[in-house]
Amino acid sequence: MPDCLFCKIIAREIPASIVYEDDRVIAFNDINPQGPTHVLVVPKRHIATLNDLSTADDGIVGEMVRRAAAIASERGIATGGFRAVFNTNRDAGQTVFHIHLHVIGGRPLAWPPG
Ligand code: AMP
Ligand code: ZN
Repeated sequence: MPDCLFCKIIAREIPASIVYEDDRVIAFNDINPQGPTHVLVVPKRHIATLNDLSTADDGIVGEMVRRAAAIASERGIATGGFRAVFNTNRDAGQTVFHIHLHVIGGRPLAWPPG
């Protein structure tokens, strides 16, 4: 997707602080972190929102969730707790239309969110 910010990060056209990468998934630090850990786990294939998923995507979504847990574990926040969130469309405040799993932790997190 030519105008997609996260596709540009994947293509190394825009810099990011990458913390993990394999053939299917990339993870990088959020530019506006909401906690001591705030990593975005992103599939390399462009998918705009959760509403665009098909059964063919079950594998990549599973990899994203497992990667979120692995990153939390590496950062020492898995046992204490962390949040993993997909924002979808306007009411959830989605601003980048390439799905990404926010992994936020390192501080107590209020619930419900705003
Ligand atoms: P969302 O609002 O769920 O679409 O989340 C988009 C996230 O991308 C926000 O938390 C932004 O801070 C983050 N973001 C925007 N631009 C960049 C960038 N260049 N590098 C890293 N994170 C970014
Ligand atoms: Zn994209």
